[in-house]
Amino acid sequence: MGLAKTLYLIIPCYNEEEVLPETSRRLTEKLNALIGAGKISDRSRMVFVDDGSKDRTWEMIEELHRTNPLIDGIKMSRNRGHQNALYGGMMTAKAHCDFAISLDADLQDDIDVLDQFIDRFYEGYEIVYGVRSSRKKDSFFKRFTAQSFYKIMRLFGVEIVYNHADYRLMSRRAMDELEKFGEVNLFLRGVVPLIGLKSCTVTYERQKRFAGKSKYPLTKMLAFATDGITSFSIKPIRLITSLGLLIFFVSIAMLIYFLIVYFLGKTVSGWASTVISIWAIGGLQMMAIGVIGEYIGKIYLETKNRPKFIVEKYLRTQEEEN
Ligand code: UDP
Ligand code: MG
Repeated sequence: MGLAKTLYLIIPCYNEEEVLPETSRRLTEKLNALIGAGKISDRSRMVFVDDGSKDRTWEMIEELHRTNPLIDGIKMSRNRGHQNALYGGMMTAKAHCDFAISLDADLQDDIDVLDQFIDRFYEGYEIVYGVRSSRKKDSFFKRFTAQSFYKIMRLFGVEIVYNHADYRLMSRRAMDELEKFGEVNLFLRGVVPLIGLKSCTVTYERQKRFAGKSKYPLTKMLAFATDGITSFSIKPIRLITSLGLLIFFVSIAMLIYFLIVYFLGKTVSGWASTVISIWAIGGLQMMAIGVIGEYIGKIYLETKNRPKFIVEKYLRTQEEEN
């Protein structure tokens, strides 16, 4: 096959029985076109990673693997979330490919830009970030929460690519480097930019989910955002320190004020101000302890160093050695 490199598409799936038939059909078509055009080697394929689905997702992947040589499957031992499934899939399959592209099972990421990703790779880029050109097709709510997310991340000094989700190309080398980051709290959008290497972006328009429901309800999104911030920034803790300092100075000013009032012989009547300050300080302290607790919890998880994923099965079509 000569110079064409081997591409693996890594696709995490959680309860995706509704989209799998259509997704695999469209991707097979796309891969065949790319192979036919000589852009990628005929060893290229897609890898569906089942993240402990509760529906028939894994049975469907097994069936697809049996009937379609372009399809491999990895079964995770249980549900560990999108980031872990994606990471686990890449780490399990990377030895067999030259580069990999991660995308969602619902094909919200436009697969026609795969060509551009691949071109960038041949130009020597090790990491290519897919960036959404607009969010017109998202609901108002999703758009609002997502944009706030990026703004807050920036505010706290986390370096992430704006409007980039997990549609991303990584060379084998970039994946090997990613493996060196030992952290258990995985937030790929924050970690990948830390790898460095030659990288660029490709823009695309995000589609609507064509079937099934989003697996990211608000609670999961909030947890994901908190995780992102606390994994990459200690600014919240610094903020608390500054706030404490500020309140300390204010209280000194108050002290001076009350001393003056006292020596002037005017009685202080302030019951209200006393009670209010007790509540205000109490609330602030609790919040501060909560934020610090968040970090301690993180340290706790990191020190235990539990595995990020456990592969139960790996179905791989063996290619003939030439
Ligand atoms: N996903 C996963 N594990 C989970 C939740 C989601 O592997 O615990 C996968 C899901 O199957 C999909 C991708 O992550 O391929 C993105 O999920 P979804 O489309 O529901 O998120 P949204 O596009 O609404 O942000
Ligand atoms: Mg989706």
